[in-house]
Amino acid sequence: MRHFFISFVLLSLSIVTLSGIAHPEDRNNNYITILLYHKFNESRSPTTSISTELFEKHLRFLRDNNYNVITPLELYDMLQGERPVPPRTVLITIDDGYRSVYTEAYPILKKYRFPFLVFLYMEAITRYPDFMTSNQIKELLLDKNVFWGNHSYSHARFARWPEGLKNKEEYMKWIKSDHERSVRAFKRLIGHRPYFFAYPYGEYNREYYGIIKSAGYQLAFTQDPAPVSKNTNPYLVPRFALVGSWAEMKRFREFLQTEPIDVKSHFPDFGLMNTSEIKEVRFVIDKIDNYKNLGIYISELGWLEPVVDRERGIIKVKIKEELKRDVNRIGITGFDRNTGRWARSFYMIIKRYITVQKDSTQKRKGRVPKKNNAHTFEKEQEFF
Ligand SMILES: [Zn+2]
Repeated sequence: MRHFFISFVLLSLSIVTLSGIAHPEDRNNNYITILLYHKFNESRSPTTSISTELFEKHLRFLRDNNYNVITPLELYDMLQGERPVPPRTVLITIDDGYRSVYTEAYPILKKYRFPFLVFLYMEAITRYPDFMTSNQIKELLLDKNVFWGNHSYSHARFARWPEGLKNKEEYMKWIKSDHERSVRAFKRLIGHRPYFFAYPYGEYNREYYGIIKSAGYQLAFTQDPAPVSKNTNPYLVPRFALVGSWAEMKRFREFLQTEPIDVKSHFPDFGLMNTSEIKEVRFVIDKIDNYKNLGIYISELGWLEPVVDRERGIIKVKIKEELKRDVNRIGITGFDRNTGRWARSFYMIIKRYITVQKDSTQKRKGRVPKKNNAHTFEKEQEFF
């Protein structure tokens, strides 16, 4: 009897769902969640690693809940509008190419037969002791479920303009020469040119984005913690990092349940800027009436209560003091009344210490990012 009652309630709920009142699986509302992993079972780096036990829990959850774990080629087709986005769609990505990808993660991924995409830090791969060897890569190359992407040669913070590089030409040359070197090394190791790219540290700006976009990639990935809609820019594809405490099942399930907000425009633009000029942060979104509890997030300031102009679809906040951090993520979130899910979109701004004008006498003193800095993963996942 009790079972019958529960089934009845569930049945009634699904009828409501099918009738269109709540329609979370409406094809138009479907989205893609991209998961980002780094190291596996490396207890010396707890903030960038995940235990294999928890990793397997993630994969088991995806399998038991009928998630479609897609290939990056399928994602490309979806963003080109050539393939519908089914409900519960996930792409698995792994950055850098640490040895634990082969020794720890691969046996589990193979067991579940899930495709995955590995971004290679080209200077380190096959060379540094904690990265995969060429024999390990050769073995993975035989598996059609393994996809490869480029993650730069030296893994520097290319999106932060080093003060030593006085003009834009020098800056662009620095990025391009590292990029060309990475592509040559990638071709030698993998046997074809790279089709996918992941910005080191997830950091990007207009200049770097332009270089990657014109280099013939199909997709380029950030680390902005948001899901992907069919309208997402293929060269700024956001991903959720599953590292440290952010990998816990509760958060994993929340990430999977979070849907994207399609932003029509935002101010400021992404990338390098003089942050003292930012007096306001503003988003223009579609279907604003679908959302309640709209909020704006800025890494340095936390959550801010915005002014919402529902007539014009504008959400904005005033910025009273200059943003001081080198990198700030800016996000918008809201609760979608139709689907009953939280929705969000994020992007990145970077403080510019170098003036772009030819007159460099006004150049301000700034911190000089180290060139070829050791590979450290400094991401502070301060959102939620
Ligand atoms: Zn990396």
